[in-house]
Amino acid sequence: MTEIKRVGVLGCGLMGSGIAQVAAAAGYETIVREVSNEIIQKGKTGIEKSLAKFVEKGKLAPDARDATLKRLAFTTSTADLKSCDVVIEAVTEDLDVKNTLWQQLDALCGPDTIFASNTSSLTIAAMAAATKRADRFVGLHFFNPVPLMPLVEVVRTVTTTEQTFKRAYAFATSLGKEAVAAKDTSGFIVNRLLVPYLLDAIRAVEQGVGSVADIDKAMQLGCGYPMGPLTLLDFVGLDTTYKIAEIMFAEYRDPKYAPPPLLKRMVLAGMYGKKSGKGFYDHTVNPPTVSSLGL
Ligand code: NAD
Repeated sequence: MTEIKRVGVLGCGLMGSGIAQVAAAAGYETIVREVSNEIIQKGKTGIEKSLAKFVEKGKLAPDARDATLKRLAFTTSTADLKSCDVVIEAVTEDLDVKNTLWQQLDALCGPDTIFASNTSSLTIAAMAAATKRADRFVGLHFFNPVPLMPLVEVVRTVTTTEQTFKRAYAFATSLGKEAVAAKDTSGFIVNRLLVPYLLDAIRAVEQGVGSVADIDKAMQLGCGYPMGPLTLLDFVGLDTTYKIAEIMFAEYRDPKYAPPPLLKRMVLAGMYGKKSGKGFYDHTVNPPTVSSLGL
């Protein structure tokens, strides 16, 4: 079994950029695939800014930052990931988009390469089945922002071998993360519990239970959460949350996972949260102010 040296990351959005950063910081040669040079540039700038903050706070030496950046490469060609020992996918939450990439890579990568998806809600088995390496397929579910959040859920499907699971688990901890083992059920551990809570917070806004600011304040001060649910939704991305809710609802047929109408309308309006500038809060001003939602 080859040692993991080279890491491929699919997608350089919110999650892919963070995953690439922690992989390169942990000493792995890391190559990231995106759809355009424009998005690559945006992701790269985000990584540079994040590393600069670590240096500013004295948590990273300037030469370690430079070495991290040197280990990072970017491409728009999937074929450039063919010599990777592990490929982590963090593209849009859409099974067809993900499986197109997996099928291309399955034909290119060596037999020891582990495929890992960072999906929040899709079934890992539905991706594994699209390849000829269902035994070497896992979920590696990171949390946003990846450089700061310590957890990775390591997900085993019905076909993942013990050897692959152990390699993936060891790889996750080698990134300086804490790992937990989870079964391949939609949402795994964290989103199974978190998504209904976030969707309920949107329903509370819809029903006028409290204002956006007061719902956030109540959950922060009443439950000791570091941020309120509507602020968290803006960080996660309302577009991503909508897709996750649709997928979990389709899987469990339980109304607690059904996306509330307000969420759909905000996504239709391009209010994706922090990444698009506006969500429950307007992030184009500092400090962010509560958005007008016409309620
Ligand atoms: P995002 O919208 O920020 O990034 C997705 C990126 O994928 C985009 O930059 C897009 O250009 C890229 N992409 C689309 N098709 C591609 C392709 N064929 N090749 C390469 N790149 C492609 O979304 P995100 O929040 O980073 O989510 C990515 C994945 O991570 C999703 O599966 C999501 O469920 C999961 N996830 C998200 C969070 C979160 O808090 N946002 C947390 C854990 C897991």
